[in-house]
Amino acid sequence: MSKVKSYAALSEKTPLEPYNIIRRECNSEDVLIKIEYCGVCHSDIHMARNEWHNTSIFPMVPGHEIIGVVESIGNSVSKFKIGDSVGVGVYVDSCGKCDNCNDSMDHYCEKGVVLTYNSYEYGTTTITYGGYSKKIVVKESYVIGIPKGMIKEKAAPLLCAGITTYSPLRYLNVGQGHKVGVTGFGGLGHMGVKFASSMGAEVTIFSTSESKKQDAINMGAHNFVNVNDKEQLIKAQNSCHYILDTVSANRDMAQVFSLLKTDGRIMTVGLPMEPHAISSFSLIDKRKGIIGSSIGSIVETQEMINYCNENNIYPEVEMIPISKINEAFERIINKDIRFRFVIDMSSL
Ligand code: NAP
Ligand code: ZN
Ligand code: ZN
Repeated sequence: MSKVKSYAALSEKTPLEPYNIIRRECNSEDVLIKIEYCGVCHSDIHMARNEWHNTSIFPMVPGHEIIGVVESIGNSVSKFKIGDSVGVGVYVDSCGKCDNCNDSMDHYCEKGVVLTYNSYEYGTTTITYGGYSKKIVVKESYVIGIPKGMIKEKAAPLLCAGITTYSPLRYLNVGQGHKVGVTGFGGLGHMGVKFASSMGAEVTIFSTSESKKQDAINMGAHNFVNVNDKEQLIKAQNSCHYILDTVSANRDMAQVFSLLKTDGRIMTVGLPMEPHAISSFSLIDKRKGIIGSSIGSIVETQEMINYCNENNIYPEVEMIPISKINEAFERIINKDIRFRFVIDMSSL
């Protein structure tokens, strides 16, 4: 057991503050990682502020877009050695026995995964703590290898924003000939644009922020629609085969359905506080549908990292010291970020 410096929310009403946690010693299957960078996901805000119907556990050390270097390994670890660059995403354990775990879909483990933070380790009252911290201990099978030469501070957001957008696009075999809309041009949305256009799709961004238009074009989007402009929205009706919905807030879903072509699908990944109101009329008209998607498996996360490395795909990041984390939360809520904050953990 060792004491590790971190930043924690002690309650849903208090800002994050310096806090010491205890990490377990490296068991035989564990990797001890010195954390170098951690991305700031909107889910960190939802959870730190207990916005998901009282599912938050305090004290909470958020952070599930972790990049670091292996500092020590347990005696049965074979995938990694000391000095390797590695990543940790949204979960750190799964049952390993259910149909989904056996089918490389451990992120959909039937027992429920152990989240990197805001979870209990299986069968214990030990709370998991995330990446706003100097070090973390993780079982090697939940650690992702970061290829040599990758830009590490930029790679951090791939561990959540990256895989969460890559996975549904791959599931639907998005490629040439597809018109893909991305609603919400934030941390997830901008990765959705980069992936969908790299896969050959024609991409349209649906955004509330006119000021992001030039960024959209620079990132490979073919069209930009300001959803506050009724005329632009009407023109965009019936235009998308798929919509990757990354918006973090509740809004009029009938409007989103109207953008789909016949047989179109919304792939929803955004997690607003309240349930969406979806009228059956939106579904029956032109046989439309909506499916959800949560992050991606460990195998698929490694595939996505390798894909980014081979195709030079990175998020746009703004580096911050940990002391700016509360300000960063406010700026994310105010849509004042291009496009992901990454904490330089040497500042802790
Ligand atoms: P983010 O960076 O804050 O981006 C969300 C974007 O949604 C904003 O940039 C904004 O884009 C748009 N938006 C925000 N409020 C809006 C409103 N009231 N009406 C319309 N549009 C609005 O957040 P993120 O980190 O990308 O996360 C997005 C959501 O995905 C969060 O709810 C998060 O919890 C969830 N999430 C889910 C998974 C999963 O596995 N399914 C994984 C990670 C995150 P514009 O400025 O372009 O309008
Ligand atoms: Zn996340
Ligand atoms: Zn399982």
